[in-house]
Amino acid sequence: MESFTDDRQRRGELPRLVVTRALPDELSRRIARGWDVWTNPFDRTLTADELIAAAERQRAEVLLVMAMDRIDAQVIERLPDAVRIIATLSVGHDHIDLDAARARGIAVVHTPDILSDAVSEIALMLMLCAARRAREGERMLYERTWQGWSPTQLLGRDVTGARLGVLGMGRIGRTIARRARTAFDMELHYHNRSRLAPGLEEGAIYHPDAEGLLAASDFLVLAAPSNPQTRGFLNRERLALLPRGAIVVNIARGDLVDDEALVAALQSGHVAAAGLDVFNGEPDIHPGYLDLPNVFLQPHQGSSTVGTRVRMGHMLLDAIEACSAGQSVPNRLV
Ligand code: NAP
Repeated sequence: MESFTDDRQRRGELPRLVVTRALPDELSRRIARGWDVWTNPFDRTLTADELIAAAERQRAEVLLVMAMDRIDAQVIERLPDAVRIIATLSVGHDHIDLDAARARGIAVVHTPDILSDAVSEIALMLMLCAARRAREGERMLYERTWQGWSPTQLLGRDVTGARLGVLGMGRIGRTIARRARTAFDMELHYHNRSRLAPGLEEGAIYHPDAEGLLAASDFLVLAAPSNPQTRGFLNRERLALLPRGAIVVNIARGDLVDDEALVAALQSGHVAAAGLDVFNGEPDIHPGYLDLPNVFLQPHQGSSTVGTRVRMGHMLLDAIEACSAGQSVPNRLV
């Protein structure tokens, strides 16, 4: 990509940026020092028309967007010519049509690796809270219905020593697997389209087909990106392949799961419990989950720690500056 900062610097102008949601203060301060910025003042996702209008008004060269912003082919088609970079504060990029961006010569950068620790923490939290019936226990206390300890109260499932199946043994999947092994002595299984090198497998058992993985999963964690092959992955037929009493965790994207099918499996007890951080149609969620005691829900919290979000932002701003100056960066997608 050719540098587009030189002309601006010569004219003494700051590069122009649109930011689609308010950012942590440390990032806003850095942006204010180096950029002519318009930040979305509303506490919500912009519509496509609003985003395009903001890019036009601002004559933006860079759009700093979030995973909730749908940057599909139609949006990219309508972006003003000035836009040269789309930077997403996420590792997932299913919300951006990369082919359409490539066709218009727009670079896309994201935030791999830097959030894998935080997301794996949430995955382990969901596994533990689902397995140990955290929601029911908490509700008992808040509703003041607890009668005191009993040997049969809220018996959960053992995490230690259980088999953990990971769909999508990438950066995040491997971080979850490593922690599950060291903290809970879990036996690791995984499925990817391609088998990992032995050094990356760290003893995890590879299943060349997803069906084999499901049959071996006392716990199943979805950690694969949303793509045409994974959308709707966990449907009725595949849920039936899980051992009875399995626990399902999703930290990937909501559209990997057929909600009707998972709710039915949770109602029947075939799936003992689920821990979900991501949902189809966020922020709306399938109402069936809300009525079930054996579901532990979080509102898309995977990377939401102060340190992680600030590091993600700095990583993006560094990448934007490098791309703007015509340099290559490893976290550039197109
Ligand atoms: P990554 O390093 O690219 O790993 C993705 C893994 O999924 C790879 O091992 C890949 O292996 C596998 N995979 C891709 N398509 C597959 C398919 N069709 N069938 C089976 N396996 C497939 O990505 P990451 O950094 O770990 O991130 C994973 C996803 O987590 C992101 O895309 C995002 O959606 C989600 N995420 C969620 C949160 C949150 O807040 N909850 C935060 C960050 C990320 P092969 O290519 O060999 O198949």
